[in-house]
Amino acid sequence: MSNVSVPPLEICNALPDEVRQWFKEQGYPAFRADQLLGWVFQKGERNIDNFSNMSKTLRDELRDTIILPQYTIVEIQRSAIDNTRKILLELPDGARIETVIIPVREKLSQCLSTQVGCRMGCTFCATAGMGFARHLSAAEILAQVFAVQDILEPEERITNFVFMGMGEPLDNYDNTVRAIRIITDPDMLGYSHRHVTLSTCGLVDKIKRLGDENVPCHLAISLHGVTDEQRSKIMPVNRAGGGLQGLLDALRSYPVQGRKRITIEYILIGGVNDSSADAKKLAKLLAPIRCKINLIPYNPHPGAIFQAPSEASVLAFQKVLIEKNYTAMIRKSGGSDIDAACGQLAGKKAKGD
Ligand code: SAH
Repeated sequence: MSNVSVPPLEICNALPDEVRQWFKEQGYPAFRADQLLGWVFQKGERNIDNFSNMSKTLRDELRDTIILPQYTIVEIQRSAIDNTRKILLELPDGARIETVIIPVREKLSQCLSTQVGCRMGCTFCATAGMGFARHLSAAEILAQVFAVQDILEPEERITNFVFMGMGEPLDNYDNTVRAIRIITDPDMLGYSHRHVTLSTCGLVDKIKRLGDENVPCHLAISLHGVTDEQRSKIMPVNRAGGGLQGLLDALRSYPVQGRKRITIEYILIGGVNDSSADAKKLAKLLAPIRCKINLIPYNPHPGAIFQAPSEASVLAFQKVLIEKNYTAMIRKSGGSDIDAACGQLAGKKAKGD
């Protein structure tokens, strides 16, 4: 039988019911869909020849119709400091994206990109300087997960996913949410929603949608400013969606379950937003919101127009927040020797240097 008329199934763009539906439409028994999902997601087996509970005929049919994520690993950089690894991938159309593996104590986090470039224009961010090329599909987001599985040491396993790579996840809402569902669905990668974090610069209508649709992830907000004037200067997105107040209103009504809290990320940029007066304003702004705060000392990248904060100002900023009873942690970027740090994932390679 020729497979010419069979529509291909791109497995990392589909949710389990859609995979089952496809198998049903092709006249296969339903359990074949679950066998396929089991091989690819639970056993991590990508070679169809090794699907030993399927007949050769079936494997031949599937080989012609099932599409797994396609990528080439172009380069792996390892940090000598903390074994952070940055992986540069090339997609079939030549687009290049980066993903980073970051060991944090006993955990191993993978930082995922959602777009090639970014169009949010944050003035402190290296990705913004690349401009915007295109969105990634869910399968391309998952390609990063597969690529990392290819290169992990045998005893290693990714414990957490953070959507903090290149791009704005909520600007690519549908594909990002689909990728989160694939990561958390028990019939696919099966991670707990507690181990998946989406970080956004604050697209207010999309934050509301994320809450309404009960998307299984933890929410982190890049706040970085305590007045509209200050925030709009470094994050143009602040001019949309009702400014700082619009964003805080969306956070106040965001459905956090149980003891979960929203994470507020605040980059401390030397002389821009790192004074004790700023810290007091931040404490006041966040009073109605169940949150914890991550303070990230700004990481100047080559050509950056801003400066890192002094250590004294970082500690003073934290002290104000702690005195107001906030959980406020200072987060140092991992892998600074390989440009794996926050906002530095942009294409040195793409620019040819
Ligand atoms: N677009 C999303 C996720 C990508 S960036 C967002 O804005 O949240 C992940 C985090 O790194 C964000 O908090 C971002 O503001 C921060 N970041 C970007 N450039 C940085 C830099 N040079 N130093 C420190 N943090 C940076």
